[in-house]
Amino acid sequence: MIIIMKPDASKEAVKKVTDLIESKGLRAHLSEGTQVTIVGVVGDKTLLADSNLELAEGVEKIVPVTESYKLVNKKFHPNPSYISVGNAVIGPDTLTIMAGPCAIESSKQLLDTAIAVKKAGAAILRGGAYKPRTSPYSFQGLEEEGLKYMKEAREATGLAVICEVTSLHALETAAKYVDMIQIGARNMQNFELLKEAGKSGLPVLLKRGLAATIDEWLNAAEYIISEGNPNIVLCERGIRTYETSTRNTLDLSAVPVIRRKSHLPVIVDPSHATGVREYVAPLSKAAVAAGADGLMIEVHPCPACALSDGPQSLTFDDFEKLTAELKPYAKLAGRKF
Ligand code: PEP
Ligand code: MN
Repeated sequence: MIIIMKPDASKEAVKKVTDLIESKGLRAHLSEGTQVTIVGVVGDKTLLADSNLELAEGVEKIVPVTESYKLVNKKFHPNPSYISVGNAVIGPDTLTIMAGPCAIESSKQLLDTAIAVKKAGAAILRGGAYKPRTSPYSFQGLEEEGLKYMKEAREATGLAVICEVTSLHALETAAKYVDMIQIGARNMQNFELLKEAGKSGLPVLLKRGLAATIDEWLNAAEYIISEGNPNIVLCERGIRTYETSTRNTLDLSAVPVIRRKSHLPVIVDPSHATGVREYVAPLSKAAVAAGADGLMIEVHPCPACALSDGPQSLTFDDFEKLTAELKPYAKLAGRKF
């Protein structure tokens, strides 16, 4: 439940309410807006049954929160969250583009890509060092060596860097090299990994599971935030449907749905959603129009030579053309880019 305080409630009144909640062994989460302060309660609210909270000084009203996710819920935190990653800030004022190869293949491949995507307007360099491949015989990633190349690319360009982590060991290692970790679609419900990502405090990009509902996805985010890490960005990357023309089906409606249900930023990955280079540009534009806070796009110096996801990767020229075309869309959406 949430306790909505009166607009003129004093700080002491708010403190009395949070103290009362905590005295019952529950967690109180404070959201101080410009108009109103909201105290969210996490835990078994029946413990407050005889506390007469609605009569406490400064309390306007008490509203039940029926969803199982609480701290990521917009009811707990009505204002949108801004998530800082290196020099980038992901939130309602900007269009943040994360771009780079599916997999880090060499120092040169990554650095050349970093320079090209930065020039075209990307704020964050992506690249996988631990690749969750469908076949165990496919390229699995350079692991720590790849992370070292990431760090070099960050130092050379000033871009923030993100890499997927697929295990607790990968998380521990990546934490030494990157600004943001990615939890991929296949691990969206790896609850131990989510908890450790929460404990790490690092910004987390949480992709939607291959067949996850939006509520399951928000509950996965709740695992991270409930460990004390509010630095979460959601990423819609397509879901599995009966359609075979594209690798997945991009669920663009997830963007406004998330916007209504949560304060967390949401970005769109049209590369993994479609698996087809040609569809990346139109869906990027649609994502910006639908209100996405950013995009994740795969870019490779030579898509035909890529060790993974070549068919969906853009060339440097394709990417530059796309970002130029996105400018008026970002402007219409009121976002700096
Ligand atoms: C990726 O971004 O490299 C990736 C594997 O994406 P997803 O988890 O969305 O399949
Ligand atoms: Mn990929």
